Amino acid sequence: MDASPGTAMADAPIFDPAAFRLTAQEAELTAKARDFGARVLAPRAARWDREATFPMDNYRDMHAEGLLAICIPRDEGGLGAGFRAYCLTAAELGRYCGATALTWNMHVCSTLWTGALTEDLEMPAEARAEHRRRRRIHYDRILKDGAIYSQPFSEGGAAAAGAAAFGTTARRVPGGFVVSGKKIFASLAGHANYYGILCTEQREGQAASRRDTLYLGVPADAPGVEVVGDWDPLGMRGTVSRTLIFKDVFVEEDAALMPPGLYFQAATRWPHMFLTLSPTYMGLAQAAYDFTVRYLRGEQPGTPPVKRRMYPTKQIAVAQMKVMLEQTKALWFQAITEAGPDPSKDAMMRALAAQYTVMENANALAALALRTCGGQSMLKSLPLERIYRDSRCGALMLPWTAELCIDRLGRDALYEKGETDS
Ligand SMILES: Cc1cc2nc3c(=O)[nH]c(=O)nc-3n(C[C@H](O)[C@H](O)[C@H](O)COP(=O)(O)OP(=O)(O)OC[C@H]3O[C@@H](n4cnc5c(N)ncnc54)[C@H](O)[C@@H]3O)c2cc1C
Repeated sequence: MDASPGTAMADAPIFDPAAFRLTAQEAELTAKARDFGARVLAPRAARWDREATFPMDNYRDMHAEGLLAICIPRDEGGLGAGFRAYCLTAAELGRYCGATALTWNMHVCSTLWTGALTEDLEMPAEARAEHRRRRRIHYDRILKDGAIYSQPFSEGGAAAAGAAAFGTTARRVPGGFVVSGKKIFASLAGHANYYGILCTEQREGQAASRRDTLYLGVPADAPGVEVVGDWDPLGMRGTVSRTLIFKDVFVEEDAALMPPGLYFQAATRWPHMFLTLSPTYMGLAQAAYDFTVRYLRGEQPGTPPVKRRMYPTKQIAVAQMKVMLEQTKALWFQAITEAGPDPSKDAMMRALAAQYTVMENANALAALALRTCGGQSMLKSLPLERIYRDSRCGALMLPWTAELCIDRLGRDALYEKGETDS
């Protein structure tokens, strides 16, 4: 943190542009996010958490700032951020409001995955031209109307883990598809304008296959779409991740966010796409550290100006936090830097290790922060207890939960492709 006498402390970048050799665009976007986060998101964050309500005011403001279009290509009217620029920007927002950054991630992926990422994938020229025409429809809604897209994939079975075909189905009918199924933990439920669902295209006489996954933007107000159940969780309360039911919902062919077969190709050839859930938690890790430094210096707003920094135990604890934070940042930065199509086995394992490290360390840092700062720091009038609860959710997010990262890392470390013990 920078502090000059007589001025309020402004947060330093998580990734210093010079030290990490950020591009001019990355430096600009992260500075914008940091300013927006501190000024707009932070003062409102406690409310969404307390009420478990969706941060709609933030979305209106993010639209005005162009942030809903961060990953829409420049020549299509957006800010043109690629994968790394997005991740770095999202981490800065996560620092100030976890629920806003996490839901924003769901929205942004509908543009990043259909935009920059698809440029690295193979499709016939005709399919690419059609894909570009279709995505313009989605992009225009976002650019002109501030439309919000969500990303409900989870169903409570093995599909969201990538181990089975999605149970939600799409049946081809003249002019489009009829969608039926159920999605759980659908962040932005009842607030997004379009639900970007993954579902399996039904083929007459054929078993459901992951290769037939479709990615469709279902209008929230389409007949047959229903939001059910309540939402009263431990953390990330502002995500409003209720259950969605689709009962014979008709969607037009242009609802396709990707051509048939392309999601499967993306998931297998561009697996870093699943790392996009981690930036929010990178930001929360930084927030836990920032809080601790401010608190021990007697500079945390909302607390008496009591300094605790002179105690050696506090200095040791904050040093341990700094070590853990820098380890987390270094690994994560490398993983988001090398993200791209067809990663090597080594790069893939590093991505899983980075995801695991960010998700687990964010909560470990928040726990250390609470222990170090003490009882007064966990009051609901301060952000730390929310950071602690929000950060607990990261390791649970499919497909790369902490458990599944460890599973896969252990297997990949000991087996080469196709190797068995028989
Ligand atoms: C705050 C929050 C917001 C969310 N928002 C969204 C959203 O917008 N969209 C969305 O699609 N999902 C969302 N999720 C859901 C999330 O990705 C998971 O699907 C959900 O947490 C899974 O919960 P479950 O109890 O059904 O997991 P289960 O499927 O019961 O799995 C429990 C654990 O078992 C392990 N496991 C699961 N499958 C396998 C397997 N095949 N092999 C080995 N181990 C396995 C995993 O480690 C997993 O954590 C959100 C979750 C949270 C906490």
